[in-house]
Amino acid sequence: RLAAAQGGAHALIDLDAFAGNIAYVRSQLPEGAEVIAVIKANAYGHGLVPCGRAALAAGASRLAVARIEEALLLRAAGVVAPILVLSPANPALARQAAESGIALAVGSATGLNRLLDALGDDLPPLPVHLKVDTGMHRFGVEPEGVVELARALAREPRVRVEGVFTHFATADAADDRVLQEQTRRFAAAVQALAAAGLQPPLVHMANSAAILRGVVEIPAPRATIAVRAGLILYGLNPSRELPLPAPIRPVLRLVTRVGQVFTVPPGEGISYGWSYIAERPIRCANLPIGYADGLVRLLSNQGWAVVGGAVCPIRGRICMDQTVIEVEAAPDVAEGDEAVLLSDGRDGAMTADQAAALAGTINYEIVSALAARIPRVYL
Ligand code: PLP
Repeated sequence: RLAAAQGGAHALIDLDAFAGNIAYVRSQLPEGAEVIAVIKANAYGHGLVPCGRAALAAGASRLAVARIEEALLLRAAGVVAPILVLSPANPALARQAAESGIALAVGSATGLNRLLDALGDDLPPLPVHLKVDTGMHRFGVEPEGVVELARALAREPRVRVEGVFTHFATADAADDRVLQEQTRRFAAAVQALAAAGLQPPLVHMANSAAILRGVVEIPAPRATIAVRAGLILYGLNPSRELPLPAPIRPVLRLVTRVGQVFTVPPGEGISYGWSYIAERPIRCANLPIGYADGLVRLLSNQGWAVVGGAVCPIRGRICMDQTVIEVEAAPDVAEGDEAVLLSDGRDGAMTADQAAALAGTINYEIVSALAARIPRVYL
């Protein structure tokens, strides 16, 4: 891993920055509230198991992932903390979830029954969190149906209700009306559960953008409140409308090394399709990294790398495994030199926000697209 990192493309992951970001989130929460660290999609590209361990060490009380498989990888690595699977779960893996004490989200009676069909009486009760759809309209029970679903869960010895949660659709937007309405609907749903004697011990709602806005409290006197923090833990901003607080620091740098230096003659094009034509002789360098590593192809002729402190634009199309940059600004460049593709921007490299803007996507996709074959090196 280290040898690969020294010679080729790798991602440097600053776990101190990650821990600092968790500490910041904790400092923003009311007394007694907990952090659920969202580490789905390989911890947004930063590495599932190391980030999971680091999150717990830094004071997160639970972990959240999107798939049972991700939770099982954490268990296999010895992580014993509570883990919640946020998306509709694969019933084929429900037994394994129950055996491993992995909590699943339940958003409908049908979803519950599909899980129950897969569970036997021989297993420990499956921990579940009731998912309420207050306006995201993606997954969950409507607020009017929440008490009935909670009753069905309470009758069922094969499950044990651990939490209730909802998810915001527009917490990152300037206009907070939908956010306020979802908060109101969720508070009403939690109150209805409490009135029916069915309020679960854990209640959670806020994602990173809601945390930044301070929308974390839920009126649920006997419950523990939690937030589900994802992107902010990786030091990235979930919103174009909100400033990122100063203590939050980016965690990831994407680095590779120059593979070859060469000159492209005038009139010749670079890479597939000759989408960039040299107007004069230009010094170029090959970087052994491509879109199959997660360097988004839409950055072709748009993005840049930093080599020896100089900004070196990407020329021509990004290929599956290789990319060409112009190195006229870095005349001393040699094979083996470091080239930085993503960083916090202080060294002049692209930030995930800049890369996202150029590629017409969001910073979430830039980091979570980093491929498994990129070695992660933890600092
Ligand atoms: N909760 C749920 C249900 C999610 O799907 C996600 C991520 O998309 C999060 C929490 C974390 O969101 P963020 O990364 O914006 O904090």
